[in-house]
Amino acid sequence: MYSVKNHWLYLNGKRVTHRPSPNHGGVITPRIIVIHYTGDNSLSGALSWLCSPKAGVSAHLVIGKDGTVYQLLPFNLRGWHAGVSSYDGESGVNNFSIGIENVGRGDAWPASQVEANRAIIEALFAAYGLEDVVGHEDVATPPGRKADPGPRYPWDRVAT
Ligand SMILES: [Zn+2]
Repeated sequence: MYSVKNHWLYLNGKRVTHRPSPNHGGVITPRIIVIHYTGDNSLSGALSWLCSPKAGVSAHLVIGKDGTVYQLLPFNLRGWHAGVSSYDGESGVNNFSIGIENVGRGDAWPASQVEANRAIIEALFAAYGLEDVVGHEDVATPPGRKADPGPRYPWDRVAT
């Protein structure tokens, strides 16, 4: 069971593995979650990239295909995952969102990965009183700029 304390994610009382990313800036109050996929099937590759200063991108969480979870940034730091974006008329979605990267290409969503998404979304909503969970494709501007998490992401199983 997931829980949140001081902007860190815990699984059964133990903090999930922290892989710090230098790619962040500023303090935020999260209002929504943005779901992504990495576009690649390698967990270690995703962690290396999102934690590299050369990448200039990050996410708060990375979820592997087997449901393994890594936290790169505390939830009150501004990650660099949504890029040029807008939600409900407000631009700069990174300023008020938690970014979750899922390892994969969006073509297959293993049950373990889906269950981790579901349980973490539930815990984050409880911790922050969030308003919404959306796909990167839903907030990226202009429309069509991003395709993740794509039509196969199981929204009906993760958000109730
Ligand atoms: Zn994305």
